[in-house]
Amino acid sequence: MSSEQSKIFLGNVIHCQRDPSRKQLYKISGEQQSFVIVKGNKIVATGKKEDLEQARAQHLADEQDVMVVMLSDRQLLIPGLVDSHIHAPQYPNCGLGYDKPLLDWLQAYTYKLERKYRDLEYSKKVFNAVVRKTLNHGTTTACYFASMFEDASMILVDAVIEHGQRAFVGKINMTTLAPDDYKETPEETIKLTRKFIEAVRSKNCDLVEPIITPRFALSLEMDSMVELGHLVKEYDVNVQTHISENQDEVKEVNKKYGIQYANVYDEAGLLTPKTVLAHGIYLSDEELSLLRQRGSSVSHCPDSNTCLKSGMCDVRRLFNFGIKVGLGTDVSGGPSPSIVSAMRSALATSINLSFSQKNYKPLNYMDVFYLATLGGAEALSLDHKIGNFEVGKEFDALVVDMGAENCNTDMLLDCSPLELLQKFIYTGDDRNISNVFVAGKSVK
Ligand SMILES: [Zn+2]
Repeated sequence: MSSEQSKIFLGNVIHCQRDPSRKQLYKISGEQQSFVIVKGNKIVATGKKEDLEQARAQHLADEQDVMVVMLSDRQLLIPGLVDSHIHAPQYPNCGLGYDKPLLDWLQAYTYKLERKYRDLEYSKKVFNAVVRKTLNHGTTTACYFASMFEDASMILVDAVIEHGQRAFVGKINMTTLAPDDYKETPEETIKLTRKFIEAVRSKNCDLVEPIITPRFALSLEMDSMVELGHLVKEYDVNVQTHISENQDEVKEVNKKYGIQYANVYDEAGLLTPKTVLAHGIYLSDEELSLLRQRGSSVSHCPDSNTCLKSGMCDVRRLFNFGIKVGLGTDVSGGPSPSIVSAMRSALATSINLSFSQKNYKPLNYMDVFYLATLGGAEALSLDHKIGNFEVGKEFDALVVDMGAENCNTDMLLDCSPLELLQKFIYTGDDRNISNVFVAGKSVK
């Protein structure tokens, strides 16, 4: 299937939309016998089966060669999944090193591995594997921490372009609290970030954008962060970093700067409506109010929060403060590159939180589906382009097949679309994802 060929999908279609009344965070629609018409990279029409012929005549009248995809009653069309926080170079460490908390884990395992990306052949091997693997798991958009090395980071950019994923790619900034042979000078970090932004932009690929990536508040001095803040304005780029992941980390940040964590980034000009902050477990009410004011978002990384014993992020509380939230695998703080796994962990964390709070309403499967699709798009400020099947958006989508070969189909009864989605979230994996589309193009 090429992106040029127009396509019609007919069957079970599920996606989340903004609730126009704003009474709820989102509304979900899960309809049988619905259609989505895709022309080039965009959705041009959606509706019920009975209106298909009229829509086809209106939008595809002059086209002979239209691909019609009739979904079975065990298949679903859903928006592509968004991983709002993943470290590509840490992929080889998935499932390793969970015996240490964050700050010790970085020194014992992470920096040792990340240093290897001076080797560009190694970079190529790993980064191609990461992009293939995440696409296979249905991640149509990924927000990547790449390498501290600018040339290795460009290899990730090339891999993303080659495989057709949508992505933000960030060259990591790190000048302090790291091994001597794995950190930059303050001059280098700014110079190479500028070079990286320009190199990514010169690729002229609509799917890939550079993103400013200070590792976290202890990896840089304030002067460097302020300079990065200037680059954010100059190039109008998104920002990603970590915040309030671990209690020792928060203490160290407070000690170093004498102010609250979120205020450190704010002082540097790094909190914008296009900033995504990973974790955010221990943010105070004042910090959440500040994030809300700035329009910055949180990437919830429940697998990682559990494996590194960082804590439990209360997503319900973030919602109550009006914070945009997406889901992140945080590979390799999290062991799995799958956002389906992150959805399950988000459910588990929320249910665990409910045991110690009276009248607490844990997240349900629809909430985590929202986080993995429209919520993720909002968190990355991409919701004008992706996140659901609204007409005019680009077509990033998955065909989920709950009757796929090699899968346990015995448990399938007569399921409604929402029941199939529920089964996918609780029991599914990459084998249930039979097709992946990014900007109208088939990539799995
Ligand atoms: Zn991370």
